[in-house]
Amino acid sequence: MYDLNNDIPLADFAIIGGSGTLSSNFPFNFEGTDIKILKKDIFFNTPYGISPKFIYFTVNNKSVLTCKMHGWRSGVSRADASRQIFWVFRQAKVKRILSESGVGSINYLLDPRDLIIPDDYIDLSVRKDVMLDGRYLLVMREALCPELRNYLLSSSKKYFNGRIFDRGICAVTDGRHFESPAEIAMLKGHADIVSQSLVPEVYLAREIGACYANLSFVVNYGEGIKNSWSHDTMKDIFYDDAKLITDILLDTVRNISINVKKCNCTSLRKETLLKDVYNEVSDKG
Ligand SMILES: [Zn+2]
Repeated sequence: MYDLNNDIPLADFAIIGGSGTLSSNFPFNFEGTDIKILKKDIFFNTPYGISPKFIYFTVNNKSVLTCKMHGWRSGVSRADASRQIFWVFRQAKVKRILSESGVGSINYLLDPRDLIIPDDYIDLSVRKDVMLDGRYLLVMREALCPELRNYLLSSSKKYFNGRIFDRGICAVTDGRHFESPAEIAMLKGHADIVSQSLVPEVYLAREIGACYANLSFVVNYGEGIKNSWSHDTMKDIFYDDAKLITDILLDTVRNISINVKKCNCTSLRKETLLKDVYNEVSDKG
């Protein structure tokens, strides 16, 4: 069923596709002068099960690994799906990771099709086991890399004439269901948007020492915020805006300098002081 390939290629970047690129067959329809597909439909054996399908390509000579819909698929827990893809990213020595997500609005001022580049999050998921090996203490200050966010902002301005917000707090729920009106009302004043995917990606990126940023686009009003949302509008956004989201992500990678990092992300991962405690416990079985 799987053509397993554990020869994991080195990649400078990773792009975790979400609902914004799902309909675009990313990045195949965007092969241009500087986009080359190197390997397609590759699966890897990981300690957490067989990975989702990856594509390996270059844009402007920068190597990128990408997978669809955060690696989610039936029969695999979302925690395991995330660990599979980040284990692969660690083996590939990925240093910068971009993701994209369709999100619901909580902030009363937001409308469908607004773009937000979140700068913080609130984790309301109940997912467990979202680490790879627990070797590090993860400081979640500036969890969304300020430098990557700036690159995303510049590329968003180049391609999008609508409203772009360079900050916002993303509440992350467990899904797959959406939130109730009472839950959205509780979140008002605490978060601007609600998503199901920023966590645990943000923790795992820090654990592997990579920068992480996310491009969120509003696809529906949170329940009780304004009008009842329309499933047709959501579907239209997924299909109509796939090219826009793809253009922004590829342009962001195109413009980033590989070797110069101006952020503090790697210094926010510390060797855990509890390592000896864990070792002692596991030695004693
Ligand atoms: Zn960074």
